[in-house]
Amino acid sequence: MKIIRTVPSMTAWSERLRREGVTIGFVPTMGALHDGHRALIRTSRLRCDALVVSIFVNPAQFSPTEDLSKYPRPIARDRALCREEGVDVCFEPTAGGMYPADFQTIVTVPVIARRWEGAARPHHFAGVATVVTKLFRIVQPHLAWFGQKDYQQAALVRQLVHDLNLGVKIQIRPTVRERDGLAMSSRNVYLSANERRMAPLLSQALRVGRRMIADRVRDVAAIEQAMRQPLKREPTIHVEYLAVCDPDGLEPLPVVATHAVLLGAVQIGSVRLIDNMLVRIPS
Ligand code: AMP
Repeated sequence: MKIIRTVPSMTAWSERLRREGVTIGFVPTMGALHDGHRALIRTSRLRCDALVVSIFVNPAQFSPTEDLSKYPRPIARDRALCREEGVDVCFEPTAGGMYPADFQTIVTVPVIARRWEGAARPHHFAGVATVVTKLFRIVQPHLAWFGQKDYQQAALVRQLVHDLNLGVKIQIRPTVRERDGLAMSSRNVYLSANERRMAPLLSQALRVGRRMIADRVRDVAAIEQAMRQPLKREPTIHVEYLAVCDPDGLEPLPVVATHAVLLGAVQIGSVRLIDNMLVRIPS
């Protein structure tokens, strides 16, 4: 496996392979890789001739009050996982290489970014959209894999690629969970033992909503209220949002009709967790 740290050498590698007709797959990550990332890497490995994984903790998507400096960076373990999974290139740019001193341009996707994570973290999605645009230009993949775990991010990337004609095929893979239902996340390591015990309640709340919809409940207020019940068992959990939304535009649904996405975010101690579930209404 090749480790590439500079932007020009990454682009040169990809351009050479593209000229040879090689299909390039890409999995962008912030490292601290877990089985959720591994699933994306495996699928991409099977579908593409060459596979690039980027590991870049993108400062532009953290606010000054967030956890940029303490974000986990187990780079030796991450590289080992990539090697194990047959990754061809681990692209590890520096912050200075991605954002030189004269850097100015910001990419925004204002409608998709308006609610939920965008409301809770005002500059987050501009940081994501900007770095994804740059990474796509640098790596020049044919296909790129993203996790449903970050549902709004995946929707934003699809929109971005469509609007800016970036020419990358976006693939979304299901969320990989721990045995107790907690969605895997690099941030789960921040949870204390007691917080970790409470953390699966978020997925339980979403499952309550999913079950109600499967049982043909259509009243969104009743569904949202029921989703809050499991979380009430732990008063230290702060619910930021639990919403029944249109899976395309992510707008809140007045009534459940054909399909929906249940979105949730909670704060447990100092850790913010997000999760979601897609629901198709049985006909
Ligand atoms: P991150 O390193 O957190 O920026 O995530 C990199 C990619 O992995 C994103 O597309 C995430 O949506 C995806 N991802 C993170 N956690 C999971 C998970 N539990 N299951 C599937 N994909 C995930």
